[in-house]
Amino acid sequence: MALKLVLFGRQGAGKGTQSALLAKHYGAPHVSTGDMLREAVAEGTEFGRQAKQYMDSGALLPDEVMLGVITERFAQPDVQANGFLLDGFPRTVGQAEGLLGITDVDLAVNLEVPRDVVLERLSSRRVCANCGTIYSLAEPPTHPWTCDVCGGEVVQRADDTAEAISARLEAYERDTVPAIAIFGQRGKLETIDGLGRPEDVSARLVAAIDAHLAR
Ligand code: ADP
Repeated sequence: MALKLVLFGRQGAGKGTQSALLAKHYGAPHVSTGDMLREAVAEGTEFGRQAKQYMDSGALLPDEVMLGVITERFAQPDVQANGFLLDGFPRTVGQAEGLLGITDVDLAVNLEVPRDVVLERLSSRRVCANCGTIYSLAEPPTHPWTCDVCGGEVVQRADDTAEAISARLEAYERDTVPAIAIFGQRGKLETIDGLGRPEDVSARLVAAIDAHLAR
């Protein structure tokens, strides 16, 4: 089955972790615009250089640019064959309308985690600069700060500073909450409690997705 799913949730709600688990469960590719942009930054392309300026301050890239990125990604054979788990897109009403103009969507899920909880998670978050594995001050890698998975350096994300975190959370309330509503209006939205152990949240997500699709 080619599942076409959009994952919403505040920064730090656990979209990345849950997308990886859902990708394994449903066999649909995890499409994360944040990961794609960070790859472009790491590759040092001209596009990556421009993207970095937006990202480091916590600002959104323009809708047309992001629609271009997604349109290109959707043309790849894995998405064509197996659908997608979209993480970090759409983030504005313009992007949501653009997305629905290029594809249908089975369901959007909103991973609900309160603002005070994500604030705490984001400021203690550390990531492997090489493979993206996520750690925290409370759960560091075995040998600080070397990644358990690939041996890469584990660092704080450039946009996990207090200023950028607050800019990103503000953009979420202002731009993304109205985009989520578009899926609600179409009867294609499920809200899931994102608190608890990752495997419990994942079980909740799968149950809600399966129930929705069975309707
Ligand atoms: P977070 O959700 O924690 O902010 P992401 O990894 O999803 O992190 O995105 C990091 C940054 O990449 C964003 O702050 C923004 O600058 C840029 N970005 C990612 N996705 C989009 C998007 N759909 N539209 C605009 N900018 C985006």
